[in-house]
Amino acid sequence: MSNINIAIDGPAGAGKSTIAKMVSAKLGFIYVDTGALYRTVALYITENNIADEDIEKSLPSADVSLGFADGAQRVFLGDRDVSDLIRTPEISMAASRTSAIPAVRAYLFETQQKIARENNIIMDGRDIGTVVLPNADVKIFLTASAEERANRRYKELAEKPDCPTYQEILDDIIKRDYQDMHREIAPLKQAEDAVLVDTTNLDLEGSANEIIRIIKEKTNVQCD
Ligand code: C5P
Repeated sequence: MSNINIAIDGPAGAGKSTIAKMVSAKLGFIYVDTGALYRTVALYITENNIADEDIEKSLPSADVSLGFADGAQRVFLGDRDVSDLIRTPEISMAASRTSAIPAVRAYLFETQQKIARENNIIMDGRDIGTVVLPNADVKIFLTASAEERANRRYKELAEKPDCPTYQEILDDIIKRDYQDMHREIAPLKQAEDAVLVDTTNLDLEGSANEIIRIIKEKTNVQCD
């Protein structure tokens, strides 16, 4: 029997990773966060001060890879686990910029397809249902209003030192959405056969339940 692949795409801050993690834990699937791969490439480019025109030829030396520890995904640059280092606003913005470069997308393409071939997975990103896994068993497009996404991010960051203002977070989200939706290659968009789930008025549990309902409807996956 072939593996089951579930694609979840959507804009920044829609709750994709939190919800996909909850759903994969319930189904016993591997969760793959492809944004972390783009962030790791962006970290490599930033740390090494690589100019745009040199990115393509530098990628073969980048050595970006995925690993799993206790069911959680980790990303590596060579031997170095950079899973926490990539979670900064600077790397978010750098990833959005560098992910528009065709060579960067080509570099990560096979890593994503290979893990999907070999496992039952839930993979989240921007172009999973449209480009990476066009034959996925289930495709979800997960979204929420920009204001609600900014609000959630603000609440998450409010306790931390140097927390940006709500307006700064909203501006970043709008800018990143725009960049992701308007790039020439693999832009963020809903696949024709994807089911739209709007989480503006749903909590995490409600969103996860809705996705599980859709998965059960479209596949023979069992879970309690
Ligand atoms: O999902 P996350 O916010 O971590 O992704 C960071 C950036 O990586 C996104 O803004 C987007 O530009 C890029 N990305 C992408 N394709 C994916 C996943 C992420 O272009 N499949």
